[in-house]
Amino acid sequence: MAGYDIIVIGGGLVGGAIAWGAARLGARVALVDEGDVAFRAARGNFGLVWVQSKGADMPAYAHWSRRSAELWPGLQAGMLAATGVDVALQQTGGLAFCLSDAEMEERAALIARMHNASGDIGTRMLDRAELRAMLPAVGDAVAGASFCPIDGHANPLKLLRSLHAALLRAGGDYLPNRTVERIDHQPGMFTLHAGAERLTAAKVVVAAGLGSARLAPMVGLDMPVTPLRGQIVVTERVRPFLDCATHIARQTDEGSVLLGDSHEDAGFDTSTGVPVARGIAARNLAVFPLLKDANVVRVWAALRVMTPDGCPIYQHSESHPGAFAATCHSGVTLAGAHALALAPAIVAGQLPESFDAFHPHRFQLQPA
Ligand SMILES: Cc1cc2nc3c(=O)[nH]c(=O)nc-3n(C[C@H](O)[C@H](O)[C@H](O)COP(=O)(O)OP(=O)(O)OC[C@H]3O[C@@H](n4cnc5c(N)ncnc54)[C@H](O)[C@@H]3O)c2cc1C
Repeated sequence: MAGYDIIVIGGGLVGGAIAWGAARLGARVALVDEGDVAFRAARGNFGLVWVQSKGADMPAYAHWSRRSAELWPGLQAGMLAATGVDVALQQTGGLAFCLSDAEMEERAALIARMHNASGDIGTRMLDRAELRAMLPAVGDAVAGASFCPIDGHANPLKLLRSLHAALLRAGGDYLPNRTVERIDHQPGMFTLHAGAERLTAAKVVVAAGLGSARLAPMVGLDMPVTPLRGQIVVTERVRPFLDCATHIARQTDEGSVLLGDSHEDAGFDTSTGVPVARGIAARNLAVFPLLKDANVVRVWAALRVMTPDGCPIYQHSESHPGAFAATCHSGVTLAGAHALALAPAIVAGQLPESFDAFHPHRFQLQPA
């Protein structure tokens, strides 16, 4: 008999949410993780629970993001009950700013397209006067914004920590400092090789972020993920002025402001640089002039886990039944759905038909 019902490879936000979601249903779960030496998008992200522009070209992703936003309060309550950690979820809406009339038109067209393809989630365009009434701190350079009432944000570091702690509370094992090098399969059992150690399970979930590309083919999965660097600038704590989420700035529950973020094709290089930070600061100062006196206390870079079309991959292996793939570049947003909708499907042993759109065979289809 296998040592575990499920082994999840990768203790980032994706793997952590799935592992906790499965353990809370009574499955015997291990979460195997390289640990703090690894590339970890989960440690370096912006913390948005963002729905308004997710899935513009894939309605299934738009619906999945919306479902996750609905499930997020349950995730937050689960973390609080299991660990006493408040992950600081705020779902007070989200703003995406436009700095010119042309940007306003472009954004309005996107929102209308998503409305037609995926349904109404209440996103609407605000002109400058409406925006100012909602958020007095915006500067004269801002022409307006799109506003989505179901967007929000949370503290991603507290989320990561509490997912690991909640897994232990639910009887699961968190096994850090282990790099899975190989996965063998025989009917009904997977054997994972990590150094001299052997771990066995009836099911395996490959959720190893950028490490997934190498592991997935060992069990008949396809996860062609690549890195995309993002830098984030952090200010000192300032008085509260921003209580909703925005696509470029987020004030944390402690008062500091996260300013983001860049999109750089830099391979596996996680270094930061002044030119990019300067660009981020300039854009944010145009939107929020009051930040001109705030000191920058930190800049960091992290690597996004990108699929070829930017949409998630979920797959159940046809050749290795019991092996599942899970990856996305919105691991905070989708944490609710991963823990409370995807994990139960994996425990049951099958992905519902609604997951077909996320299968990686879409990358082999020729554009019409
Ligand atoms: C700058 C930036 C801003 C972002 N902003 C947002 C945001 O606002 N909202 C949002 O929803 N998302 C955001 N994201 C994306 C989000 O952070 C990621 O989607 C999420 O962290 C991905 O989690 P993951 O678990 O797939 O990968 P990771 O966090 O990278 O974790 C992968 C884990 O797998 C482990 N691993 C890898 N290989 C192996 C192996 N062989 N054996 C064992 N373990 C292994 C590593 O130890 C690591 O812990 C942002 C990302 C970046 C970089």
